[in-house]
Amino acid sequence: MNFYQNDINNPIFFRVMYFLFNFVRVNSYICKKHHKMSTLRFFALKETLNRKPVKIKEDIRRSELFGSNVFNQATMRQSLTKDAYKSVNSAIQKGSKIDRSIADQIASAMKDWALSKGATHYTHWFQPLTGATAEKHDAFFETIGDGAAIERFGGGQLVQQEPDASSFPNGGIRNTFEARGYTAWDPTSPAFIYGTTLCIPTVFVAYTGEALDYKTPLLRALQSVDQAAVAVAKYFDKNVKKVNASLGWEQEYFLIDSALAASRPDITLTGRTLLGHTPAKGQQLDDHYFGTIPNRAMSYMRDLETECMLLGIPVKTRHNEVAPNQFELAPIYEEANLAVDHNSLLMDVMEKVAERHNFKVLFHEKPFAGVNGSGKHNNWSLSTDTGVNLLSPGKTPMSNLQFLTFFVNTIKAVYDNEELLRASIASASNEHRLGANEAPPAIISVFIGEQLTKVLNELEGVTKGKLSPQEKTDLKLNVVGKIPEILLDNTDRNRTSPFAFTGNKFEFRAVGSLANCANPMTVLNSIVAKQLIDFKKEVDLLIDNKDLKKDEAVFNVLREYIKQSKKILFEGNGYGDEWQKEAKKRGLSNNRSTPEALKARVSKKTIDLFEGLGVMNKVEIEARYEIQIDEYTLHIQIESRALGDIARNHIIPTAVRYQNILIENVKGLKDIYGNDFKKYAQEQLELIQDISKRIEAINSGVTKMTNERKKANALKDSEKTALAYCNKVKPFIEDIRYHCDKLELLIDDELWPLTKYRELLFTK
Ligand code: ADP
Ligand code: MG
Repeated sequence: MNFYQNDINNPIFFRVMYFLFNFVRVNSYICKKHHKMSTLRFFALKETLNRKPVKIKEDIRRSELFGSNVFNQATMRQSLTKDAYKSVNSAIQKGSKIDRSIADQIASAMKDWALSKGATHYTHWFQPLTGATAEKHDAFFETIGDGAAIERFGGGQLVQQEPDASSFPNGGIRNTFEARGYTAWDPTSPAFIYGTTLCIPTVFVAYTGEALDYKTPLLRALQSVDQAAVAVAKYFDKNVKKVNASLGWEQEYFLIDSALAASRPDITLTGRTLLGHTPAKGQQLDDHYFGTIPNRAMSYMRDLETECMLLGIPVKTRHNEVAPNQFELAPIYEEANLAVDHNSLLMDVMEKVAERHNFKVLFHEKPFAGVNGSGKHNNWSLSTDTGVNLLSPGKTPMSNLQFLTFFVNTIKAVYDNEELLRASIASASNEHRLGANEAPPAIISVFIGEQLTKVLNELEGVTKGKLSPQEKTDLKLNVVGKIPEILLDNTDRNRTSPFAFTGNKFEFRAVGSLANCANPMTVLNSIVAKQLIDFKKEVDLLIDNKDLKKDEAVFNVLREYIKQSKKILFEGNGYGDEWQKEAKKRGLSNNRSTPEALKARVSKKTIDLFEGLGVMNKVEIEARYEIQIDEYTLHIQIESRALGDIARNHIIPTAVRYQNILIENVKGLKDIYGNDFKKYAQEQLELIQDISKRIEAINSGVTKMTNERKKANALKDSEKTALAYCNKVKPFIEDIRYHCDKLELLIDDELWPLTKYRELLFTK
């Protein structure tokens, strides 16, 4: 029987029609009776107010859960043969190759382990230059003929894959070289099970060798800093064989109810609010920071932490941040490559767990105007395989000289490369923090605290060349020897500095909450590597040619470095014009916009640096620049289009509707009072006029903005396009917003279509 041939006598057809008829009738009744119910905003608010914290199960101790979904050292020791285990370890420690038969053994053990944990698929997990993580799942399942099937996973599949990745950004590398990309296993970051998939961390490179991901240059940079730091650490301890860079990130984020977030087209499309008037109460009372965590958020965090434990992400700290509904999560620090992977994975896990709790996580650096934005502080240091943190003062004068060596070299590296460091954190979204109306500023400076400033001042006065025995003793006892005591009571902390020394590590605070840490970490470790190599050369030269003792030579070089790089040290407040003027005098860069900042990524100095260290070649560097500059343009383009739509389709119609209500009211007053009506309609008439002015401003703003977009799109050069988006299109986003926000204050709350700041930020 064919459905289309049915007539009205068919009972199913009849029931469907009856249902549709009633549905339309009831809905139009609701909309007419309570027209406010017709806006998504009120539906969303109703949903949100009815929510309860999601109950979660927590019956196992965290230490027992930790790493149970990770193919880690302990699991490998259990499941691998001695040879295979040794081979993986040497690959992890020394980067040695794993041969094919061993790879087969490892793959087989990995598969058995994964299957025992309920996994059905595997994937090469990598970080293309989109900033997100990428995965393409394949089943272990294979048919073997005669209708039979098995689970199979071989060494070949573990070690290398060729995803069809033609849609990932490559900055022209593929076009130029017609290179296909492949992913290759990174044994230094252990495989893990996520959901029902075995994830194998990999690098992603073109067949011609160029990196197409974030991880490859990071691994190269970490290798350079390892070699350079080992060579310098050997001045102080001959036994040092390996130096690891460590990273402890602090992830800030906002949690917004998913219904409220979905009610805002701007949040849906751009991850931030493009308009919205600041509420009467924001963060003025500081009542959220470190306060009691709201119940629903707490339940989310506990659930999230359990997931992190399973995945071996050592999260430890959680607290409320400054802005309402803003929070922070921090782990115990780890080796930098692993920490970067863990942060990328965490951001993914955070989004997935949020769905269970009806939240949307906002990672954007500035989701709301007028309240604090979010960052991702990168705590960084270097530590040896002998267990020494090279940025932590020790117990003896010699170990303190080692500390000072790494401390001063880091400062010098930052000074010499401040522009590149600024570029490493540049993005359209981070632009709203840096250099806008929020600390840290776009000027890179280093905060070291009053006490260490004194130490550096003393070192600056060290005699040139050979030191007298008395000076040496004095230095050891009164300068270098005093450092641990100094740091113990060094409680002064500057919260606005983009790069601060915090006792036993540097904290790169300007990194954005949305960013992949690999980029800033690649730059930081590279510039320190380069600096340590130069340092070693200079010290050796003094020892060999000037017949200086090792410590004398070190003092001599450090003295010059302190003199040369003093200008980067800044203890004051980074807000405001004063520092901008001062920084200009000091010759520090102040690249406020992203296109301006990104230029440092392709300067000759940068190319020399990265090529010299073997971290990236010119092609890779330029490709990344292209990708970032295009990404900037696309970002602003999406924001501009989204705002144009919202302004014309949501705001202006609402304004017109309210204006009509006012006009009706004025007409009524005229009916009653005749010519006297103006006495009673004064306010209404002003409102009608004001609304007309705003509508005009918004409408012409959108038209002009669209024209600027067209002009920018027509430019042939991607750099020029980005600059046009930055300087010509972006200002309209602010301008249009201003008028929309004014309307929000004028128009009847019941008519306003967009969920308000008050509701987004204070509904818990
Ligand atoms: P804050 O006051 O900035 O919150 P914390 O002491 O809480 O400082 O540390 C913040 C982060 O710094 C944590 O992730 C922590 O693991 C990390 N951290 C601590 N020591 C080191 C180190 N030596 N290297 C890298 N990160 C570190
Ligand atoms: Mg911190």
